[in-house]
Amino acid sequence: MSSEAELRAYLLEKALLPSGWAEGVLVEVGDDGMIARVMPGGAQAGAERLAGIALPGMPNLHCHAFQRGMAGLAERRGPVGDSFWTWREVMYRFLSQLTPDDVEAIAAYAYVEMLETGFTTVGEFHYLHHDPAGRPYADIGEMASRIAAASAATGIGLTLLPSLYTYGGFGGAPPNPGQIRFINATDRFVGLMERSRAIVAKVPGARIGIAPHSLRAVSPEQLREAAAIFADGPVHIHAAEQTREVDDCVASLGARPVQWLLDEMGIDKRWCLIHATHMTDDETARLAQSGAVAGLCPLTEGSLGDGIFNGETYLAASGRFGIGTDSNIQIDAPAELRQLEYSQRLKSRARNVMTTTEGESTGRSLYTRALAGGAQALAQPIGALAAGQRADIVVLDADHPDLAGASGDMLLDVLVFSTGRGLVRKVIAGGNTVVSEGGHHAREAIAQEYRATVSRLAKG
Ligand SMILES: [Zn+2]
Repeated sequence: MSSEAELRAYLLEKALLPSGWAEGVLVEVGDDGMIARVMPGGAQAGAERLAGIALPGMPNLHCHAFQRGMAGLAERRGPVGDSFWTWREVMYRFLSQLTPDDVEAIAAYAYVEMLETGFTTVGEFHYLHHDPAGRPYADIGEMASRIAAASAATGIGLTLLPSLYTYGGFGGAPPNPGQIRFINATDRFVGLMERSRAIVAKVPGARIGIAPHSLRAVSPEQLREAAAIFADGPVHIHAAEQTREVDDCVASLGARPVQWLLDEMGIDKRWCLIHATHMTDDETARLAQSGAVAGLCPLTEGSLGDGIFNGETYLAASGRFGIGTDSNIQIDAPAELRQLEYSQRLKSRARNVMTTTEGESTGRSLYTRALAGGAQALAQPIGALAAGQRADIVVLDADHPDLAGASGDMLLDVLVFSTGRGLVRKVIAGGNTVVSEGGHHAREAIAQEYRATVSRLAKG
């Protein structure tokens, strides 16, 4: 327990609390980085005044940090037309040369950008485990330790999700050369998890879960075994991102991916189905009822030509969702939410789709649902300005011209649909101020390292 003397106090001019908007909110933070008390209308001498609009930090529930370094590399037309599958070949070539130092440098830069846009916790779906020849490093958790180091260096909260990846495709297909750095059978994965648990234990507040990569990459028996061995944390899996994957799943397992997972795995609140793009209405309703989270990555799903999530049906069935930056081609929390709503508008030829009641603000609906879904999927006390939660506070610039005349939920509508990340002025993560005046405190040094790394990689 923290004594009174160890508490830091902030006075939030205006804040979004679980109960709604409030003004003059005193927030006390312990030296453990957790919120000890929230008092609307409170006052305290010596409290740091946070001018602006304070929001809970947004969880980023799905990230492959290293892919940030390939932004712009896969935007040229190939000889036979491009798809997710040709993009994947570019991605495999890119990662084939990455060293642990490279991964740490790229992850740190990606995490800086996340914090600057209002993401305060990341779920790292971590599958780049081994050396370029596919051999484990002397420390099997070498790459995991680099992710943890990037999290610690930047201050972003971490749920590390080591990925179980054994096969190259459905039916136990052998891995192709591009996949050899990912591969573990279950026994070695258990060792990797043990080591990762020790690594994560050194990062304040960090958690661990498992990420069976997809139904392509693990067998049904393995998936059951892994979910049983690691029964106490979140389970993330890519599902139904591409129609070819759905077709292959039907051919191999006799059911569509989400259908199979619902029927065979007892999907519940522990689970986060990444993408869940291609679902029938029945799968959509059943996934919603399961209590699992759909891990939506709207910018990446657009970038990769995946398809459009069945949002309207899912929300009507009270489905839970969060957002992830996945390929990190653009790291921007408001833009993810905007793309989610706009894809639904294009699909439905309607407006304000991701809402359920008349008069509801779409910005508020998207923001608060993604907070709750992200917190559940990352199994952390995050996503709300409330006692017992990690002190993750995003402060928007109330003096921005775009916010003139705006109040209440309209502030979130401007954030999501108009001004976007340009409104973010200050970010506190785990009780530490990591972004001031819109920039991360270590941006310069981390960006320099990133530039050097990506420039060298570009030369091949
Ligand atoms: Zn992914």
